[in-house]
Parts: sequence; C-alpha cells; structure tokens
Amino acid sequence: MGIATVNPATGETLRTYDALTDPEVEERLARAEEAFAHHRRTGFPQRAGLLRRAADLLEADLEEVARTVTTEMGKPLPAARAEAAKCVKAMRWYAEHAEAELADEEPRPEDVRDSGGSRAFVRYRPLGVVLAVMPWNFPLWQVVRFAAPALMAGNVGLLKHASNVPQTALYLEDLFRRAGYPPGCFQTLLVGSGKIEDILRDPRVAAATLTGSEPAGRAVASVAGDEIMKTVLELGGSDPFVVLPSADLDGAVGTAVTARVQNAGQSCIAAKRFIVHTEVYDAFAERFTARMDALTVGDPMADGTDVGPLSSEQGRADVEELVADATAKGARVLCGGGRPKGLDRGWYYAPTVLAGITPDMRIHHEEAFGPVATLYRAADLDEAVDLANDTPFGLSSNAWTRDTAEQERLVDDLRAGGVYINGMTASHPGMPFGGTKRSGYGRELAGHGIREFCNVTTVWFG
Ligand code: NDP
Repeated sequence: MGIATVNPATGETLRTYDALTDPEVEERLARAEEAFAHHRRTGFPQRAGLLRRAADLLEADLEEVARTVTTEMGKPLPAARAEAAKCVKAMRWYAEHAEAELADEEPRPEDVRDSGGSRAFVRYRPLGVVLAVMPWNFPLWQVVRFAAPALMAGNVGLLKHASNVPQTALYLEDLFRRAGYPPGCFQTLLVGSGKIEDILRDPRVAAATLTGSEPAGRAVASVAGDEIMKTVLELGGSDPFVVLPSADLDGAVGTAVTARVQNAGQSCIAAKRFIVHTEVYDAFAERFTARMDALTVGDPMADGTDVGPLSSEQGRADVEELVADATAKGARVLCGGGRPKGLDRGWYYAPTVLAGITPDMRIHHEEAFGPVATLYRAADLDEAVDLANDTPFGLSSNAWTRDTAEQERLVDDLRAGGVYINGMTASHPGMPFGGTKRSGYGRELAGHGIREFCNVTTVWFG
C-alpha cells in the first residue's frame, strides 16, 4: 500500500496520494534551508506568538481533526480529541517555557578564571533543518512533541509521516502555515520510507528524530551515523507493570486495563507485561481478566467504544502471530485470543490476557502492539525486578506498592527511561520522555527535549 487513507474500521480505501517527485522534494529542502536562515534570527517572543497561534487554531479545529485521526488510524474519537488537546497544551508549554529552558548558562566563576578567560557562557543555538520520521499511533502528538520544541529553538522541521496518515500529515503542515510561520518552517513530505536515506544524506539536513519500530530506527540511525548526524530515537517498548502485595489492588487493576488497551494497545508506553507477586496474583488475574473481557470493542466513531480496530491489517496479523506462537508453546488464554465475534469488517482484535508465559515464546521478548496482556507470577520482589528487566526494551515501567523501601528499590533497579509508581506511564510536556536499551536514546519533551536539537555553544572572552 502506498500513501493512503484506509479506514481501519472498514478496510475501505478512502483516498490515495501520489508521493512527491524528486524535484518536489528538492524544492522543499531548498525552502527549508531558506526558512532556517530567517527563523533562527527570530526572538523567543516572536516564536512564542506563532506557536500560541498554532495552539489556538488546533484548539478551534479539535473536533474536525480528531475525526480525521480516527478515520485514518482507528482510535476511539474521545481518545483522538484528547490527543489533540494534549498537543495544544504542549504547544503552550513550549511557548511559555522555551526561553527559560534555553537561557544562557554561566560556568562556575572559578572555572572561567581557570580557563584564563574574563567571561564565558553557554548558549543553545539551533542546529538547522530537522527531519522527523513519525508513526501513525499518535499521529498528532508524536509530531507536535517534536515540532513545538524544534520551532521554539529556532530550528525548522520536515515531517515524513507514516504512509497511512497522510491527511493528518497535511493538516499539520497547513496548521503551521495558517498560524503564520513563513513557508519552509514546517513542511510535510509525502514520501515513502525508501526516500529517507537520500534526504538524510542531503547536507541541508542537520539532524533527525524517529519514533517507530526498531528496524526503522536502525535504518535511520545507520545512515545518520554514516553522516555523523545527531539523532533521537524513540522506538518500541514492552513496559512492565509490577504489582506487589501492599498495592491498592482495585486501583492497580483499573489502571492496568487502561494502560494495556489505550489506543487498542498500540502505544510504545502501554504496559504490556503484568508481573504480579504470588500473594496477590490470583486476585489480580481474576479481576483484570474480567475487566479486559468486559470491554466494548467496536466502531471508533461510536459512543461507548473502549477499543477500536488495529490500524492496519498487517498490524493485526502481527498480533495474531505472536498469540499463536505463545499458545502453541503452552500459554493459556484467559480471555480473548482472537478476532471478536460480529465484527467482520475492519481489523479488530479482542482484548486478550495470556498466562503461563515462558522465555521461549516470542511475546516474552517482542513488543505486542495490540490489546494483548501477558501475566507473570513472581515469588518475591527480586524475581519481579528480574522479570521486569528481562526484555530488550527499556522505555518506561510501572510499579504498584505502598511500601516505601520497595518503591526506592524499584526506582533504583527498573532499567527504563521512566519509573511510574502507583500510576500509569504517560508523557507530559514538562517531563522528559525516552528510553534506554532497544527503546532508543535521547529525550523528548521538557528542557531535555528542546536541548537535543541545539548546538551547545561555548562562548569565551579573553
Ligand atoms: P514503522 O516503524 O515501520 O513506521 C514508523 C515510521 O518509520 C513511518 O513513518 C515509516 O514510514 C517509517 N519507516 C519505516 N521503515 C523505514 C526505513 N527503513 N527507513 C526510514 N523510515 C522508515 O512502524 P509500523 O507502522 O510498520 O509498525 C510496525 C511495528 O513498529 C509495530 O507493530 C510496533 O511494534 C512498532 N511501532 C512502535 C511505535 C512506537 O510508538 N514505539 C510506533 C509505530 C510502530 P512508512 O509508513 O512510509 O513505512
């Protein structure tokens, strides 16, 4: 499938798009370079004004753009509205805080003296044209959390969005244009992934950020490495959700369900592996399975739908293969385990809980990008931590306990870019977001995110 809107709820192709030709890509690269020459010289108040205007426009468009998102990738409409609202919030956060986050920094006076200088400071200057390769699962949010800081820092953006969300991609380009950004500050490139290498190797592109799968990350990072180009990678995750005996079990169960089925399970920070202390395992398993089984799967545009379709036929096939592999090797299906009855069109998959997981099953170490939870019984805290860390990924983690000593231990020992205690991992504009291990490197959001694509410049006076 080329670049197209295909409704995941019906499988119907609604609109197809031609990819840009090489001369059209060239035109956009030239425009981006020109825009950077101007945009880098604008001050923070001007940049903040533009971003606030974009936030206001997005807020006004919220219902319409949410419908576009739901049509293109299948998340329930209220979730699409919430995603758009979160983008508005992040734009306003960066409009307000970027200047302070990028303020000049003074070294210690003794270090200035020691360097033989009379004065020195560090200035965060923009890098240039940043290419963003983005996925379809949060098609507004993933882009805005790159674009808002990049534009506030004085960079300009080129967006290569996933091929199944072209209308959302074009909407975003139009949003920044309407907000008053000069042409070239933010452009959408409707191209397939095969064009990315050429674009990365273009000397006008200064840096790249990618959110998506490990193979896509590896492809982009290899070329960028060859070009000695800065990258940020936000790849997959298989976050643990640890439940210990002192936990508020009702709270843990409710949050576990939300954490697993948000976005039909297609979220990098969805909790995917539920590791429960043996003392509370049976109670947790029973309540969790009952709640998963009771979810309403159906039309993402309809009121009351908890879980919509997966975004693509391939995405569902991937989930089906993982579950088939696990059950063939002895996993027990506590609920779900296949396509829901009565939904013949579209790419639906029933919320599923699997128990009896062993390390030889693919799902033990691969990301399940659908509403499939795996349950593990842990004898004690040590085993829970070992299981939590027994994954190639390290994006975030969740743990439930009221015991402060256990909380400290988990904060120290869970190997991930986030440790969320007694709650669910969620990104927030004011907190850094990103992973370790195969989940990628670099950070998005907060001050850490805006500084990733800056030239940290030492200024020294003799
Ligand atoms: P991909 O990683 O393939 O797609 C994400 C983005 O990367 C898209 O814009 C895609 O473009 C682009 N891309 C893909 N391959 C390359 C490449 N070789 N060089 C440059 N760009 C590339 O995700 P899929 O949609 O195929 O999903 C597959 C799996 O990836 C999921 O099942 C899930 O495990 C993981 N994933 C994780 C996400 C996360 O948030 N961590 C988000 C999405 C997927 P195009 O669409 O044109 O191929």
